[in-house]
Amino acid sequence: MIYLDHAAATPVGSRVLEAMEPYFLRDFFNPSAAYLPAKKVAADYEKAKGSIAHAIGAKTSDIIITAGATEANNLAFTSLALDGSCLYLTIEHDSVRKIAEQHNGQGIKVLSNGVIDLDDLKTKITDSTELISVALVNNEIGVIQPLAEIAAIIREIKIDRLKRGIKKQLLLHSDASQALNLLDINVARLGTDLLTLNAAKVYGPKGVGALYVSHDARLKPLTYGGGQENGLRSGTENVPSVIGFAKAVELAKEHLNGNRKKYASWRKILLSELQGYELINKKHVLDNFVVLCYNGLDAERLIYLLEDREVYVSTGAACAASKGQKSHVLKAIGLSDEQIAGSLRLTFGEANNEEQIHEAAQIINEVVTNEKRRLGR
Ligand code: PLP
Repeated sequence: MIYLDHAAATPVGSRVLEAMEPYFLRDFFNPSAAYLPAKKVAADYEKAKGSIAHAIGAKTSDIIITAGATEANNLAFTSLALDGSCLYLTIEHDSVRKIAEQHNGQGIKVLSNGVIDLDDLKTKITDSTELISVALVNNEIGVIQPLAEIAAIIREIKIDRLKRGIKKQLLLHSDASQALNLLDINVARLGTDLLTLNAAKVYGPKGVGALYVSHDARLKPLTYGGGQENGLRSGTENVPSVIGFAKAVELAKEHLNGNRKKYASWRKILLSELQGYELINKKHVLDNFVVLCYNGLDAERLIYLLEDREVYVSTGAACAASKGQKSHVLKAIGLSDEQIAGSLRLTFGEANNEEQIHEAAQIINEVVTNEKRRLGR
């Protein structure tokens, strides 16, 4: 099998699994319990949270553990006051788009390369804007957004609001689900007040994530109960998953530069060996994302034909693809319906090696050639 869909899911690393195992069997105690073995589990849990926090330049108390990125993104929006409004990038993942729509959020446009249109952002911020959500890396095209630049614009607006006596908060949230793998994230450098992380995209377990919350952000709880996670998300801690998450983050940090170089070289190989495609994501992209368009072909059919050859790719976000929806991301960057219908997303990762990249290019070329022949093109 050649798995080229790491943006959808990453396999759990063997060292991650190893780190998690004792917490299922031996150290299974509820961290809130009063006896000594439980206190050790509570300490290990806090330490794991601390190392996740440290990896993004934050403190343990700034991190709220969630059941994945969807929940973390939703939690960020509880910062909105009843009369507050929000903005989000039109190409955001549905877990941001749908919650923003619940709060009458307005979409910020992107340029044809997928990068935020800063002029559109500036015109859409009003005195009632409280939250702006922009993912660091887009999950369909891998485009990296200039968060520090966005944060600088927000800072200026905050200064202007202060001068005019407007006390409304203005927060920047970023979904960094796809970024943790290959970018060195630091919340202070990026200037974000809220930041979503996702273990499932970084060779950690599924169903666990985190929200970084700066001191400026005031959130309402997502769940009510025992008061865990600073009272914002009550419920017994998912200790094994958080231990695994911390290990996964540590390993990602260790291999950041090596992996980026490796994926950049694989991207070059793939693009030089593939034939008859149009490259959709050219600039400002994470090195493991390749989005190709085979104009006039049906990408859904190509996916099934490639699956027959044991090459796994996707058309975009896995959740949208399974519902047969057209990609809102490819639409937002100005692709025609025909281009969208012919677009494939390939994402490299640790399940690959260089030989597989050559092999995948050859198989994709064969499948595309056969398909063109079948259609008489
Ligand atoms: N945000 C982005 C950018 C993603 O890629 C994903 C997963 O595909 C999510 C949020 C949702 O993550 P989860 O399904 O783990 O909650």
